[in-house]
Amino acid sequence: MTSLFDCIIVGSGVAGMTSSIYLKRAGLKILLLEKSAPGGQINMSPKVENYPGFIDIEGAMLASNIFEQTQNLQVEYKYGNVLSVKKENATFHITTDLEEFKSKSVIIATGRRVAKLNLEDEETLIGKGISYCVLCDANFFKDEVVSIFGNDYRTLEEAIYLSNICKKVNVICENKYFDDNSVLLLEKINNCNNIKIYYNSSIVKLNSIDQKLKSIKINNNGNQEEIECKGLFISNHNIPELDYENDIECDKNYIIVNTEMGTNIEGLYACGDIVKKNIYQLTTAVGEAAIAANSVLKYLGGN
Ligand SMILES: Cc1cc2nc3c(=O)[nH]c(=O)nc-3n(C[C@H](O)[C@H](O)[C@H](O)COP(=O)(O)OP(=O)(O)OC[C@H]3O[C@@H](n4cnc5c(N)ncnc54)[C@H](O)[C@@H]3O)c2cc1C
Repeated sequence: MTSLFDCIIVGSGVAGMTSSIYLKRAGLKILLLEKSAPGGQINMSPKVENYPGFIDIEGAMLASNIFEQTQNLQVEYKYGNVLSVKKENATFHITTDLEEFKSKSVIIATGRRVAKLNLEDEETLIGKGISYCVLCDANFFKDEVVSIFGNDYRTLEEAIYLSNICKKVNVICENKYFDDNSVLLLEKINNCNNIKIYYNSSIVKLNSIDQKLKSIKINNNGNQEEIECKGLFISNHNIPELDYENDIECDKNYIIVNTEMGTNIEGLYACGDIVKKNIYQLTTAVGEAAIAANSVLKYLGGN
């Protein structure tokens, strides 16, 4: 007979692992489910410089430290690609590609994945010029010429942020114009003397020297042009990982949560990059994970 867990945490990124630490230390019977390796997205980061307590640390090392912490606490960890999360009466049924589990409560921490541009050498240049996170990596390109690829107001916000750190920022926009949300930002950009926008343009080639990005070739309104580029930021190209069957209320596949990290389903909480919010960072993910764990304790009557 399948045993009943107090809480099942789906996703063992930084958020999921943090929740598991809190719940295990509170004495709950929990299970951490993961479809890949523990650690999630931060494994892709060559260097993290904005996580308190570490002046700098390799993303994979940070993830491995947190995983070790869960294993020292003997958190039960299983491989499994979660295919469905359903609640029947007061019990959650979680089905993976291998097994089915039951639980009194659930924390969803499935994060998101970056959507790559699928350019030649893009993969090998991650951390060597290519970045998917302005807030994380802008500082590595202080006083350099960088580009940012994206098509909405968030790209412009990030371009302005970059312009305060980098020598020059080229914005590569696939569309002929930015939408109405961008009017004020475009006015600000007009007053910045180090931002240039290339409309109706796409990136066609990455040029590198010694495995470091040096320039990009763009198609600018049908004309090919090579521009200097030490850092290329792919802006807001993320896909929330919500591919499994569920009844959770979402906005564009991001889970809507209240201040207690509760969802529309009683007993089901969410934290980290899978939730709809403004800042997608390690610090926000771990903070939300602690809140979600505390909410589970309250829900189960243990707090
Ligand atoms: C290249 C890069 C560099 C970054 N650098 C920084 C930085 O310097 N500082 C910073 O603060 N932030 C940084 N970030 C952002 C940071 O990594 C994320 O905000 C944080 O890791 C989110 O953690 P999470 O646990 O919510 O999600 P994720 O890390 O996405 O983890 C989710 C986990 O859930 C698993 N999962 C998904 N679906 C399923 C399923 N169906 N079944 C089972 N498991 C599933 C995934 O495999 C994954 O392991 C960076 C991100 C990237 C991509």
